[in-house]
Amino acid sequence: MFELKVKLPDTKNRNYQIMIGSGVWDKLPNFLANYKNSIARFVIITDSITKKLFGEKLKEQLRKKGLVVELVAFPAGEKFKTQETKTKLDHQLFGLGCGRDTMVMALGGGVVGDLAGFVAATYMRGIPYIHLPTTILAMVDSSVGGKTSIDTPYGKNLIGAFHQPEAVFADISVLESLPEKQVANGVWEAIKIFLTHDAKMFDYTMDNWVKVLAKDEKVITKIVAEAVKLKVGIVTRDERESGERQVINFGHTVGHALELLSDYKLMHGEAVALGVLVESKISELSGILPAAAFSRITAAVERTGIDKSVLKKYPAREIIEKMRLDKKSRGGAARIVLLEEIGEVYVKENKFAFQFENGLIKKALEYFYG
Ligand code: NAD
Repeated sequence: MFELKVKLPDTKNRNYQIMIGSGVWDKLPNFLANYKNSIARFVIITDSITKKLFGEKLKEQLRKKGLVVELVAFPAGEKFKTQETKTKLDHQLFGLGCGRDTMVMALGGGVVGDLAGFVAATYMRGIPYIHLPTTILAMVDSSVGGKTSIDTPYGKNLIGAFHQPEAVFADISVLESLPEKQVANGVWEAIKIFLTHDAKMFDYTMDNWVKVLAKDEKVITKIVAEAVKLKVGIVTRDERESGERQVINFGHTVGHALELLSDYKLMHGEAVALGVLVESKISELSGILPAAAFSRITAAVERTGIDKSVLKKYPAREIIEKMRLDKKSRGGAARIVLLEEIGEVYVKENKFAFQFENGLIKKALEYFYG
């Protein structure tokens, strides 16, 4: 089991633990008992799938330990990460009579984490919450760093808040039921951070791909723990994304545009993988990334079963238009994180993301249309 401590600067009470390993949910009753003087009830927020897989059972287990636990659920899927769902959840909490002495437990993938975290961030001006991530993507990325949000018709994650959890319990054993497609989807957020920060872990992930797909607990735990360590380091240094945290968005400027254009039919990790590919091409065309490194990234995309020909479905003009709406854009121009080598993000004059002429972005995209 890995245990990390997140210590955010300039704060007294916002440090939290991240537990990663098989069986870490067994520690929940003792952990929650620490709040007996401040929290009267716990509300599990989950989706329709994770409710059936884990939610009901967890609720009963915790109730048997004498805790007051409720459960509310919404239909699974990115298309429900909306203001309407959030309002319904808020009203369900009011209906249960929840006061400020309530703790939310976000049980599920990244959609649940973002939505339940946002409910916790705003309910009665903010109540505590913990993450119980059940997808690799949520373990590696969305449960770490305190970003919470909902999607809008204008773009993904455009409404939200920074709200740090009390703790994260990433129980690797719950991944047993995760469909194979979701494995590659989640591991791509780890590959993305290895590409910007850790060449050895990039190689490790590729060399062990068969074991990754088989959900080998040792291999997955190592990948999740190393990716989380890197992300914790970055978000601790730059909580509000004013500088270094932007590197976590590598692949996301193009990736979010693709997700939006596909009407969320592309999975997040899949879109990120394609975004990484296009943004690596932009890095290469800018003379920053060597061609050999770009080839290795292309090989990684293929090895992980991501179909790069999907890019052909989306005209460059539309991708560029959607990129302008990205949160990271400035003055209507998209900003992109570049790669210098495998394991090394490009930083110039303390800048981590760069604006580009539409012409170069178009050229990079057209490379994949050929
Ligand atoms: P998801 O939450 O929709 O989960 C994918 C599917 O898997 C869902 O149908 C879910 O019910 C199901 N599922 C969850 N756990 C399961 C399990 N153990 N076994 C079987 N099925 C299971 O999607 P996701 O890929 O986990 O997360 C994507 C979301 O995360 C996006 O909305 C993205 O914007 C967000 N995200 C947020 C951050 C952040 O920093 N806040 C970072 C990265 C991604």
